[in-house]
Amino acid sequence: MEQFFISNEGAIRLAAFAGLLTLFILAEALWPRRDRALGRFQRWTTNGLMTILNTVALRVAVPVLAVGAAGFAQRMDVGLLNMLDVAQWVTVLAAIILLDAAIYAQHLIFHHVPVLWRIHRVHHVDRDIDVTTALRFHPVEILLSMVIKIALVVALGAPPAAVIIFEVLLNGTAMFNHANLRLPLGFDRALRWLIVTPDMHRVHHSVRVPETNSNFGFNLSLWDRLFGTYKDQPDDGHTSMTIGLSEFQDDRPARLGFSLWLPFSKGP
Ligand SMILES: [Zn+2]
Repeated sequence: MEQFFISNEGAIRLAAFAGLLTLFILAEALWPRRDRALGRFQRWTTNGLMTILNTVALRVAVPVLAVGAAGFAQRMDVGLLNMLDVAQWVTVLAAIILLDAAIYAQHLIFHHVPVLWRIHRVHHVDRDIDVTTALRFHPVEILLSMVIKIALVVALGAPPAAVIIFEVLLNGTAMFNHANLRLPLGFDRALRWLIVTPDMHRVHHSVRVPETNSNFGFNLSLWDRLFGTYKDQPDDGHTSMTIGLSEFQDDRPARLGFSLWLPFSKGP
């Protein structure tokens, strides 16, 4: 199994990304949850260009990506999970769950450390939340996240297959939970016992600060419930709540230049 993931890594990533992006764009058109604040064209152009920029930045600036680091840890026999004598599927599952917990913690830290928040708010300033918001991060955040992930993967001794599964899964669940998608409420309630749903994550994109500082999970909903950061619904309701940051309720967040400069601009 492991060899299959490693030899087909590029194809698996691309197929999952393109397939899910198309699926969620169609689903958003058919079953939208909210009216949009801004037009799609400029937002999607900016969010799309940021995605391309981030992909290029990662390839250029980080010589070894997380999967490479996992291969290194395996060859050197280092990391926590390599010390345990358990079946391979247990190691893979444990690595995926531990990486998910770490991403939750990282997200929480990016909200509470001012200099990191300046970078992360580029994601939050988006005036609408839809599948493209999941791809909209400042390149500095993407590079920092990769460095942190490489350190985690080596410390954990996460197997390469676990890293590939985790990254594809995270990419997919992030696109899902940012989607402007109306799920049947009963289905949402059942599903969010396991994973973060669009209604659960939308609370995190509210302009209300206590709501922004809740629901940090991207994949399993467990961590927010466990660490007391869970908020069920937005105070203003899903269709009336305001998305984004209160200081930037205009069309600037849809511009690429503004978005890339935001971490370095004066002000809060
Ligand atoms: Zn956030």
